[in-house]
Amino acid sequence: MAGIDIEGLATVYPNGVRAVDGLDLHVADGEFFALLGPSGCGKTTLLRTIAGLENASEGTVRIDAADVTRTEPGKRGVAMVFQDYALFPHMSVAENITYPLKVRRVAAATRAETAERTAGELSLDGLLERRPGQLSGGQQQRVALARAIASQGKVLLLDEPLSNLDARLRLEARTFLKKLQRDLGITTVFVTHDQAEALALADRIAVMESGKLRQLGTPREVFARPVNTFVANFIGSTPMNLAPGVVSAAGVSVAGGTLPVEGFTPEGAEVTVGVRPEYLTLTTGDATGPGLRGTVVVAENLGVQSLVSVDCDGTLIGVTVPEEEEPEPGKPVFLTAPAARVLLYDAESGELLA
Ligand code: ATP
Repeated sequence: MAGIDIEGLATVYPNGVRAVDGLDLHVADGEFFALLGPSGCGKTTLLRTIAGLENASEGTVRIDAADVTRTEPGKRGVAMVFQDYALFPHMSVAENITYPLKVRRVAAATRAETAERTAGELSLDGLLERRPGQLSGGQQQRVALARAIASQGKVLLLDEPLSNLDARLRLEARTFLKKLQRDLGITTVFVTHDQAEALALADRIAVMESGKLRQLGTPREVFARPVNTFVANFIGSTPMNLAPGVVSAAGVSVAGGTLPVEGFTPEGAEVTVGVRPEYLTLTTGDATGPGLRGTVVVAENLGVQSLVSVDCDGTLIGVTVPEEEEPEPGKPVFLTAPAARVLLYDAESGELLA
């Protein structure tokens, strides 16, 4: 078991692209850690730099306290699972799983025993003699995981581990992966562009943009308190409401009304107000106190909940309500939110104001 320490890391490709651009990160021993961000933000490059498949241009990578920045991939103690699994098509499942051990000249009897045990752990019993082409996508993914685990690396690196599975299998594999990681307790870093996957699986998430770290936190933290409007926009299945506002004595003036706020942002400050649809409350009767008045435009069914779009003085505000409370289009409504859920971002920089 081992932690990963990254300091001042930059990875620059020969074409001059700074795919990782000055990054500091600590992944704790046994942690399940997600690298999340939009396409091209550098998350795969960061994973490959940890693995030693790309060279660090600046900074250091330490695994289990040892500086491995210039160590070749095979000697870093990392096991990596690639997005396309990279299984050997002409080898059996057992041979695929134990290939790293064969390279290290581990005895055949020990390899067979490892194949049996790992196949058991990954629900691949009875499939050891098959070839990858004779397996489902989910089974292939588990063989790739089994191979990584059998190699007994100190850390497990997963590049978009679930992206090749269809929606239903993906959910199954998610649960499986989370349980496996918890049971094994192996330090794991996984790359994903899917915020729901990162929120569901990870102990902590690093949100990246343009090679830089934009927020580091638990799923709860990055969901409830994004530190800038980039993260606010990126995290959440229903997008966060972001609208221009001005701080007043009563709270913040936004969308023709007022919402309560916490903290000491000076009166008159121009801000971007952020509030998640899940944290707004919609009422249809008489209402008093700070809130937003508006008219229902449309409601979208999300299953148990509905996402209602409300026109508040020309600004569309989304609010989730239980499906059975979905109001009719055209209905006048009132929206409120607790002060702790109303976030203020600097109107220019987009950074969260304390
Ligand atoms: P995706 O989710 O699309 O895989 P990513 O966040 O993993 O994206 P990277 O693949 O790390 O991003 O790419 C980061 C940046 O580096 C991009 O601008 C990309 O075009 C560039 N890049 C990636 N690989 C190379 C390479 N071999 N040579 C030059 N530039 C590269």
